[in-house]
Amino acid sequence: MSKGTINVSVDNIFPLIKKFLYSDHEIFLRELISNATDATLKMKHLANIGEADGVEYGNPKIEVKLDKEKKQLRIIDQGIGMTKDEVEKYINEIAFSGAEEFLEKYKDKDGKDAGIIGHFGLGFYSAFMVAEKVEIITKSYKDAPAVHWACDGSPEFTLEEADKKERGTEIILHIAEDSTEFLEDSRITELLVKYNKFMPIPIQFGMRTETLPKPEDSDSAEATSDEGKDEPAPTVEVDNIINNPNPAWTKQPTELEDKDYNEFYRELYPMQFEEPLFHIHLNVDYPFNLTGILYFPKMSNDMSIQKDKIQLYQNQVFVTDNVEGIVPEFLTMLRGVIDSPDIPLNVSRSYLQADGAVKKIASYITRKVADKLKSLFNNDREGFEKKWNDIKIVIEYGMLTEDKFFEKSKDFALYPTVDNAFYTFSELREKIEKTQTDKDGNLVVLYASNKEEQHSYIEAAKEKGYEILLLDSPIVTHLLQKVEGSEEKVSFVRVDSDHAENLIKKDDAQISKLSDEEKETLKTFLDGVIPKEKFTVQLEAMDSNANPFIITEPEFMRRMKDMQKTGGGGGMFGMGGFPEMYNLIVNTNNELVSEILNTKTDKKKERLVNQALDLARLSKNLLKGEELTAFIKRSYEMIK
Ligand code: ADP
Repeated sequence: MSKGTINVSVDNIFPLIKKFLYSDHEIFLRELISNATDATLKMKHLANIGEADGVEYGNPKIEVKLDKEKKQLRIIDQGIGMTKDEVEKYINEIAFSGAEEFLEKYKDKDGKDAGIIGHFGLGFYSAFMVAEKVEIITKSYKDAPAVHWACDGSPEFTLEEADKKERGTEIILHIAEDSTEFLEDSRITELLVKYNKFMPIPIQFGMRTETLPKPEDSDSAEATSDEGKDEPAPTVEVDNIINNPNPAWTKQPTELEDKDYNEFYRELYPMQFEEPLFHIHLNVDYPFNLTGILYFPKMSNDMSIQKDKIQLYQNQVFVTDNVEGIVPEFLTMLRGVIDSPDIPLNVSRSYLQADGAVKKIASYITRKVADKLKSLFNNDREGFEKKWNDIKIVIEYGMLTEDKFFEKSKDFALYPTVDNAFYTFSELREKIEKTQTDKDGNLVVLYASNKEEQHSYIEAAKEKGYEILLLDSPIVTHLLQKVEGSEEKVSFVRVDSDHAENLIKKDDAQISKLSDEEKETLKTFLDGVIPKEKFTVQLEAMDSNANPFIITEPEFMRRMKDMQKTGGGGGMFGMGGFPEMYNLIVNTNNELVSEILNTKTDKKKERLVNQALDLARLSKNLLKGEELTAFIKRSYEMIK
């Protein structure tokens, strides 16, 4: 037996390894299985190129074994193994100095940024996060005796010959007192599923009982069901392979059908019962390497935190499901996998975001998503329209935050109307140009945000032959602002921001039934009755069929309020927010207004005004609580 001391420049790195990334101890298993996988793939490569004479590659697997009694966890591979010299070189020197360097660099970061940094780089020595002693028994594919290395967490190690016959490496972890959770079957299964579910070499963890299909008895279905009661179904013991070594994203799109993509979705998210709307297969090898499949799930308007996220892999090893900084923000709402060896993972997030390769990856993904949307739109417009409401939040958010995506979205972004027609912006422009251009040559796009609440305004605008969009996403105000900035002479106006005749200002002035004097009298009276702090009274000569009183909220004011609610744009009015101020438009051509004017007693007049005001508030959903109760009472009295 030979003894040696690992060349330690830091006093002793083992306590440090233990302490480091306390919450991430579990990654040791992924690191060791990654090594086992690498060693197996190297063997395959050597066998393929004829570099390993007389070596049978066979169907290698990696075995994970638990022995609770002995407090051991073992990882056994059939890879290239190591000779004595190689153990000294790779384990005692290279791996060690790698781990040492890694710790040196990050030990002061106290876990900050660990999200990414912690994921890679510690390698073999991460075993000491959970083990008090680690042994390696390994036999190289080369003609050399097997060796046995052992180290108890001090810088001393032993290295001696062993009698292992089969090629490959066995790592034995003597699990430490404070890490006994890793002696539980369920915990190991959990880790294997989390990190190794799609690794390329089969991983076996114990055995599993499988029920065999019963022999078919086609003649008598009854007989089969009777038999079924008495005899238990035959079973067999099979290797419990925990991974799928050939996940869908590693295949070519031509090899896969829609059903394969949907099956893979289910494999990724076993708890998801809804089918994805569509998928995008990513596949590029220059100037960076990236494969993956992204899915558009059904999305609701509330952008609450979702737990089924995009998963990031590196050569089929799970890294993280926090892809922030790698995938453009608006696409983090999607699901699926991205696999790339080119994403530098042992760096901080801020560094990651500044990295050139990562930026290219983000813009590639954005482009692929835009291309896919465009082809869906072109190939099946009807289907695309049907999906629109479920995907619009992602697209609209992307339009708002990514200029390149905004440009591309012009080909497929849809503007639905309250009557369920869908237009692209250029189609819409063509459709409404004649009717909805105001006297200054601006195209006025009318929209509603809620069909129910704005019903009377929608109807009034329709009456005028206008087309009304239904734009109800929470971020729509921000988006309109952006579209207005990019299109020539276009403004969006919500239907309840003015009375129908004023929504799109044309030259044709209406003739007023009231004389200037009558108007003056009416205005003075109304100003005395209508609360000034809530309403600005405005007399307008409108169509006599239009409502007598209409409450509107100027587009600008409402947008500011919306923006403040959804963040951005607000703040300028401080903490107090905006005052509740509306315009009260009084249609001087409506008969009721003449009646108010001609009513003799002030008391009766006041009652009519209040009643009309409440009706206007009611149609804007503004009458609530005590005022609503008073209104109902007054109404009953009036019909008595
Ligand atoms: P890395 O895998 O990043 O190179 P590690 O510290 O995990 O660093 O491992 C160091 C080296 O030890 C590996 O590069 C490899 O040469 C060798 N090694 C580790 N595990 C095995 C194994 N199971 N079979 C063969 N060689 C191994």
